[in-house]
Amino acid sequence: LIPILFIIITTLITPGSSLRWGSKTSSSSSSPNETLANSLCTDPSCIKTASSDYGEIVQELPFGVLNPSSVSDIARLVKSSYESPSPFTIAARGNGHSVRGQAMARDGVVVEMTSLNSSGDGNVGIRVSWEDSLGFYADVGGEQLWIDVLRTTLDHGLAPVSWTDYLYLTVGGTLSNAGISGQTFRHGPQISNVHELDVLTGKGELMTCSKSMNSDLFYGVLGGLGQFGIITRARIVLDKAPNRVKWVRMIYEDFSSFTKDQEHLISILGLDYVEGFLITNNTPPNNFFSPSDQSKIDSLASENGILYCLEAVKYYDDSNITTIDEDLEMILTGLSFKPGFIFKKDSSFFEFLNRVRDEELQLDAIGQWNVVHPWLNLFVPSSRIMDFNQGVFVEIIQKQSTNPGPFLVYPMNRKMWDDRSSAIIPDEETFYTVGLLHSAGSTDDQSIIEEQNEEILRFCDRSGIKIKQYFPHYRKKEEWMKHFGMKWKVFQERKSQFDPKMILSPGQRIFTSY
Ligand code: FAD
Repeated sequence: LIPILFIIITTLITPGSSLRWGSKTSSSSSSPNETLANSLCTDPSCIKTASSDYGEIVQELPFGVLNPSSVSDIARLVKSSYESPSPFTIAARGNGHSVRGQAMARDGVVVEMTSLNSSGDGNVGIRVSWEDSLGFYADVGGEQLWIDVLRTTLDHGLAPVSWTDYLYLTVGGTLSNAGISGQTFRHGPQISNVHELDVLTGKGELMTCSKSMNSDLFYGVLGGLGQFGIITRARIVLDKAPNRVKWVRMIYEDFSSFTKDQEHLISILGLDYVEGFLITNNTPPNNFFSPSDQSKIDSLASENGILYCLEAVKYYDDSNITTIDEDLEMILTGLSFKPGFIFKKDSSFFEFLNRVRDEELQLDAIGQWNVVHPWLNLFVPSSRIMDFNQGVFVEIIQKQSTNPGPFLVYPMNRKMWDDRSSAIIPDEETFYTVGLLHSAGSTDDQSIIEEQNEEILRFCDRSGIKIKQYFPHYRKKEEWMKHFGMKWKVFQERKSQFDPKMILSPGQRIFTSY
């Protein structure tokens, strides 16, 4: 640690360095460099936050934490590392909701993106605009939380079209992965709904990029796991926001009918959201269902051991308020859920999009939110989803798991993803996302779940199910090469072009091994 501490401090204070202390000739105000050096926090409290994440599995201590007040603060930090003979690593930390240390930087500097605020020099905040060629869009700082993007755009009667289930994530953090939810089948992931980005590269250069301008950087950064630059602004597609939603859950005993109906629903485009999840004997009660519906479902689950719940949503507002029930009825006609097991709710658009927040608050109140999260997220080709069900959901999850999940499973369309981005998905027109979102209350639980995750990966490998990990986590270079497949070469080339000194997002462990 000592040499790295020395490098960072000398980089910050050495005369001639881009981060040197400002001249003291003007006594009234601090120079920008002095402000920056002052904002590098080495207090135990800063280090503690920056060395943990939602997963609570990995802990990597950074040398210091930058709480930037402007993008130029971050630019100076990155440039100083880039220009140093011994560069130090830098990780942008969004809201720290990764689960395997992806936003950490051992012995380097973590940049707390949410410290940026809209009053800072040149900071973007959230700005809604309109152009003939683009329609409505929002320019949004990479540090912004999606919940704030939603609130601000709703004030204009607008909203982004593609979401994540949970909104207390940053724009830069989800765009570095993909950003998926039940709207993805229809609009593509969040990375398919971006017009333009401002990106601070690993050379400390702030570049604007889009499909037609610096497109290598644009596509590299989208789904790029933070490897090519720090997103400081994203121009996000907006559409007219509905006021309300019809929200339906249907229970299936049979996986084949469940997935057949899911695939049918994503092919007809009548709905705005399609997801699904497993209900096992361990699934806790859910607010969506009334107590009597819940006990009906519980007794069916104890007969079957495993049930599948298809979740669908259709948006509406004053323009279709009189026809929405009929329209929905038509869409759901012919589906094969268990008769009598359809449950409906009418809610505001905001309440629906922010649905996971309620669960967070409830779990937090009983000390179950900030626990260990050994999550495994996979993309599974549709052609093998039946084998996956038998081998994983039935044989492993249902028989062996005492953990309540949630376990998500829903399909999406490959054509809504842009193959030029860095995101990796299976090579099939339709594929499923499977989110095994475990919580572990003890270290014993954690090791059981980690072993189970390994078993699932081994099963897929043995059975030739060509899964791709979402939020990939690998330790060996060969594993990363296999993950990226044909895209590895271009991924590497982009790294050499935009972050040749391998400064950024070391916690992903793609180019940096500890
Ligand atoms: P962090 O975890 O802080 O960072 C993630 C990575 O991005 C790191 O490598 C970091 O260095 C890099 N990074 C952060 N900011 C920037 C930036 N501005 N520019 C470049 N790189 C940056 N994901 C989904 O797709 N769909 C979901 O429905 C979903 N639901 C979730 C629910 C919960 C409860 C949780 C905890 C996570 C969920 N996620 C979901 C995962 C989430 O998308 C990832 O954790 C993601 O990393 C965003 O979190 P973050 O903003 O906290 O980023």
